[in-house]
Amino acid sequence: MRILVLGGTTEARQLIDQIRKGDDHEVILSLAGRTRAPHSNADQTRIGGFGGVEGLAAYIKDAAVDAVIDASHPFAAQISTNVVAAVADPGLPLCRLERPPWTATPGDRWISVEDLPSAAAALPAGARVFLSVGSLGAEAFRYRRDLWFLIRALSEPSGDWPSTTKFHIGPPVSSIAEEIDLLRSNRIAYLVTRNSGANAGQAKISAAKALDLPVVMISRPILPDCFKVAGVPAVLDWLSGL
Ligand code: NAP
Repeated sequence: MRILVLGGTTEARQLIDQIRKGDDHEVILSLAGRTRAPHSNADQTRIGGFGGVEGLAAYIKDAAVDAVIDASHPFAAQISTNVVAAVADPGLPLCRLERPPWTATPGDRWISVEDLPSAAAALPAGARVFLSVGSLGAEAFRYRRDLWFLIRALSEPSGDWPSTTKFHIGPPVSSIAEEIDLLRSNRIAYLVTRNSGANAGQAKISAAKALDLPVVMISRPILPDCFKVAGVPAVLDWLSGL
């Protein structure tokens, strides 16, 4: 089969490695183009938007795709919504690989909010905030000139930020001790993050808990229903059942 994988996540990379261990399938990886030097382990890679539902449906037809796996980021809601509509008419098999969200455990001080604007509004005046919402997501907080921000993202957010804003450009840190140091040394009072559920992002949540800090946790967007599984092995099972 020719399989289209909507990627941009660690799980998409892991999944493609597994699929390509056999000779049964050809994999096309599709990326949004949000990173400068994207890594690809697929047979073919395409980068950039399709042009909405119609563009995606036309691509699926032209490329003679047999099945689609949506392994995109849990907050990439538009592409996940589009693909459900795009496969509906030809009736192509679609599987969403959805990693489980984080859940609060006793001792966590989460303030759950629906979206980025609600998170920005939830922060009290004058707070020192560790913002871990991606460079695109940071934009929703820029109007809060009364706050001090430490922003960690893979690339620097655009727009003009106060000169006091501190940027850490790079991937998440996996050591809880390092995250505790970061929160302490910057006298952080609030952590803001999206509930991506990624292993790589968990250390900061544990660090906030260890320091008894509140976490403004942005819930995942609601997506249209489709067949979904929580991990790579389950996608492989689904594929072999097609
Ligand atoms: P989105 O809102 O779902 O997508 C916006 C548009 O980008 C889509 O309509 C589509 O354009 C294009 N697109 C998205 N993913 C694509 C893919 N895999 N292949 C081809 N085109 C794709 O997603 P987003 O704007 O990229 O990101 C939304 C949030 O998710 C951001 O806050 C971002 O930080 C987070 N996120 C995204 C990614 C990612 O790889 N996309 C990775 C990590 C985090 P057309 O309508 O023209 O097809």
